[in-house]
Amino acid sequence: MSRFAERLEAVRDRVRATGRDLEEITIVAVTKGRPLEVCREALAAGLRALGENRVQEALPKLDALPEAEWHLVGHLQSNKVRQVAGRFRLIQSLDSLRLAELLAEREGGQRVLLEVNVSREPAKKGVVPEDAVAVARQIGDLLPLEGLMGLGPQSADPEPAFRELAELRQRCQDASGRALPILSMGMSGDFEAACRAGSTMLRLGRVLFENPVP
Ligand SMILES: *Cc1c(COP(=O)(O)O)cnc(C)c1O
Repeated sequence: MSRFAERLEAVRDRVRATGRDLEEITIVAVTKGRPLEVCREALAAGLRALGENRVQEALPKLDALPEAEWHLVGHLQSNKVRQVAGRFRLIQSLDSLRLAELLAEREGGQRVLLEVNVSREPAKKGVVPEDAVAVARQIGDLLPLEGLMGLGPQSADPEPAFRELAELRQRCQDASGRALPILSMGMSGDFEAACRAGSTMLRLGRVLFENPVP
């Protein structure tokens, strides 16, 4: 087994230990700052979804590895919309109605998640939780909205913020009458808390790609 496959197995064990079924959870390997060989390792180990946070870095990787299912997880600037429309399987970091409008003009079929700032840290992107239901409804009229994405707080216990995001997803579904199957939350430092709160998609970098096996 490769080192990557070993680390992936260790992550899966930790997910199982939270009581969650691995069938319900997609692991997105976040490959930002890592070379193509590393992306290939993740694919060879059976992962399909790869995530990048910068458009400039992502596009050449998309060209080199079209067999992967690419996700954009970092902030999208409006002047980059033209370059990304239709290129990613999922844009997880949609954080304004304006961006959704620009994307819809280019590519009406672009699947997206709405990023919500549930940690309420000013440096973080995402709509404020109070606006999520209204913005999700408006975005859902423009693009295939598949769920919500959020980052846990840096210092505090992340689980309450993750539970808030899970609750918001329910409220967005109820308000719009549309199913929102994806709840993207959980990174290397907090994925177990995210699993306990109902995550359906983990975005993992360091825990998959860096030694030692945690
Ligand atoms: C980098 C990044 C991740 C992965 O972070 P790790 O701590 O390396 O697991 C997840 N989500 C986003 C938005 C990121 O930018």
